[in-house]
Amino acid sequence: MNDIKLAVMGTEGVGKSALIVRFLTRRFIGEYASSTECIYRKRMSIDGRQLNLELYDPCSQPCEGKSNLNEQIHWADGFVVVYDISDRSSFLTATAIVHLIRETHLGVAKRDRDTDSVIFLVGNKQDLCHVREVDREEGQRLASECRCQFYELSAAEHYQEVVLMFSKIVRNASLG
Ligand code: GDP
Repeated sequence: MNDIKLAVMGTEGVGKSALIVRFLTRRFIGEYASSTECIYRKRMSIDGRQLNLELYDPCSQPCEGKSNLNEQIHWADGFVVVYDISDRSSFLTATAIVHLIRETHLGVAKRDRDTDSVIFLVGNKQDLCHVREVDREEGQRLASECRCQFYELSAAEHYQEVVLMFSKIVRNASLG
């Protein structure tokens, strides 16, 4: 059975836990109590194949710490880099993370596959578009510059899109 490891990365408060919990339980949890338990596991079937999925959520650990980020990048098969469309600084952090993943991938021999399919840039909290600080086009531009796939969605309101997004990256990572 395949083991797939996904790192969900981004500034604290962008909705990483909300996205993961939504995907795993269907529920949107308004105030999710972060714990030190940061790895979520799910057994799932993709195209008839059984997979063991591990999702890593850095929880309270600072995402900006470069060594921590490097560890996550080496550990993972796929990356969901999240920002909050109503928080420009979270987009700047996501930009730095995406660049670091690209650099690290390019420098690591074992990762000879195309990175497009395993780095997803996600603008979360689309339901807050009335207080948007990051235009959709900026997200799309970053994704095309860094060869990632781009999604803008809401953990709060878009259950189907959240499931589709995670299912797609799991499938892509499993083909890698
Ligand atoms: P994390 O630190 O990145 O894991 O962020 P959390 O998942 O703990 O979410 C931080 C806050 O944002 C919580 O109050 C969530 O309820 C809220 N949140 C998460 N996703 C959404 C969303 O799609 N829309 C809105 N309006 N709030 C969200």
